[in-house]
Amino acid sequence: MIGLLGGGQLGRMMIQAAHALGERVVVLDPDAQGPAAQIADQVICSPYTDSDGLGQLSASAQVFTTEFENVPAESLRFLARHGRTMPDARSVAVAQDRIDEKQFIVSCGIDVAPHAVISRLDDFDDLEESLFPGILKSARLGYDGKGQHKVDTAAQARAAWQSMGSVACVLEKRLPLEREISVICARDQQGALAVFPVGENTHRHGILAVTRVPAAVSSAVAEQACQAARQIAQSLAYVGVLCVEFFVLSGGRLIVNEIAPRPHNSGHYTIEACETSQFEQQVRICSGRPLGDTGLKSCAIMLNVLGDAWFKSSASPVEPDWEAVRAQPDVYVHLYGKSDPRVGRKMAHVTCLGGSMDEALTRARIVADILGLDVGDGLA
Ligand code: ADP
Ligand code: MG
Repeated sequence: MIGLLGGGQLGRMMIQAAHALGERVVVLDPDAQGPAAQIADQVICSPYTDSDGLGQLSASAQVFTTEFENVPAESLRFLARHGRTMPDARSVAVAQDRIDEKQFIVSCGIDVAPHAVISRLDDFDDLEESLFPGILKSARLGYDGKGQHKVDTAAQARAAWQSMGSVACVLEKRLPLEREISVICARDQQGALAVFPVGENTHRHGILAVTRVPAAVSSAVAEQACQAARQIAQSLAYVGVLCVEFFVLSGGRLIVNEIAPRPHNSGHYTIEACETSQFEQQVRICSGRPLGDTGLKSCAIMLNVLGDAWFKSSASPVEPDWEAVRAQPDVYVHLYGKSDPRVGRKMAHVTCLGGSMDEALTRARIVADILGLDVGDGLA
């Protein structure tokens, strides 16, 4: 049995992959009706830090993994006394703290955005002018653009910091992004590494909206991104599925934005478009199987569907026309089983395949139209 900390859609899709391989999964989550709990083989309904719940989990499974960003590293340390955790607490802790994360990436010889660490009021006194306009990001617990403020001056940054409760932050220079890409890699218990094709991401209001694969970058940039991801995974002695998000600046210069110690929203396309999905890879690693082939079978576009799609025509939620979406060829709908749609909440995703990028784009535009999605220039 695989023990899973966290019960969201990433966990749900991991369990689907586990079942296809004949593996069983026990989920620990405070929500007994969450996306993963609905299909788990066993559910332990408990806070992530509860010692009774963790005790039950450790008795039910031999290997432990996680599916959400902010799983307490302490809980992984507890589980590590009873079995192997994939990833380990240290990797998760590094990814959870933007200050440690940036320091670690720099220590790998890889560039990050120019930034300053803010931990006390004095830190605003000698800020470099070149960091503005910037973004103040809380060091911990941010996701989907939450815990971030755009700031143009040191005075604005100070006010924003105080409004955030004076928690530890990084002030990052706002960079002119040519595009955003991500690389998902998988490293197994023996240290073998497999890297998925590079995806290109479009965000709307800090939330991923579209991933298209392959990314429209040169093979040199793609290779450099894959090499950076491999190096980060190796330096962490990482075991599991890891996502590295990059900014591409003019001239193809690469900056690592952040890492996620788990399967990632920008890797959902792998379910239909790759020989092996990111979720199957995670299960393969947990169950001691060799890594699968990460080869791309066709061009792919993944569209995130937020709760917004339920509120196109009225203030009370109306189910989107999924049958119209499913009627399109080579289009795959994944509903996460969340009962209350809310604006900004990830409810589902749709993957559109094509023999060419143009074919995938044509399908994706039809789907985005049916669902009324805000994709920005993600399908341009
Ligand atoms: P989250 O943890 O919420 O994903 P990110 O740090 O990845 O936070 O920021 C979310 C998005 O905001 C990024 O994908 C990017 O579009 C934009 N962004 C973040 N930092 C910068 C920056 N330094 N310069 C320009 N855009 C940025
Ligand atoms: Mg991000």
